[in-house]
Amino acid sequence: MAAEARVFIGIGSNLGDRAAHVGFATTRLSRLPRTRLLRVSPWYLSKAVGPGAQGDYLNGVAELRSTLTPYTLLQALHDIERAAGRIRAERWGPRTLDLDLLLHGQTCVDVPRLQVPHPRLAERNFVVFPLSDLAPSLMLPGGQRLQSLRARMSDGDLERLGSAGGTHDGAA
Ligand code: ATP
Ligand code: CA
Ligand code: CA
Repeated sequence: MAAEARVFIGIGSNLGDRAAHVGFATTRLSRLPRTRLLRVSPWYLSKAVGPGAQGDYLNGVAELRSTLTPYTLLQALHDIERAAGRIRAERWGPRTLDLDLLLHGQTCVDVPRLQVPHPRLAERNFVVFPLSDLAPSLMLPGGQRLQSLRARMSDGDLERLGSAGGTHDGAA
């Protein structure tokens, strides 16, 4: 049996009922095999960076423990996105649900369909802020401290919402 890895998933939605979509995502993450959903960060509103006029994103991060491989997890994330009605059209276009595998313990993967740590993690405040809410003392693969990344990062238009987040009891 593989060792359990500490896994972080980025969750985003900017189309339709965003709160329902991110809620659906956390429920589905809590039901993955060989996986425990531990916590979900507070939620944030962020401005979309993709093409054209798009709605704001609802963003958060989920912390899991899993013995699934990064590849199996990626497949599972795509299945959940599809179940939430995501249609893959233009790159960075609006979507009901976007699930990114941010970190899988200290594992590094770099093949065309999967890069871990997520290659744009360190430049995105809507990832770094909720991630450091969950794990302020996290050390990224390669030795960079999340805390120092966050200290150098502007919160810009990022808006932290008051409710939600916290411990997940896995009973959803
Ligand atoms: P970004 O990657 O900049 O956040 P995006 O989330 O909009 O953009 P998608 O259209 O959701 O990009 O995914 C494009 C491809 O990225 C997927 O088909 C997937 O195979 C690949 N990919 C590579 N690394 C990862 C990762 N760590 N998590 C999720 N998808 C990844
Ligand atoms: Ca993404
Ligand atoms: Ca994605």
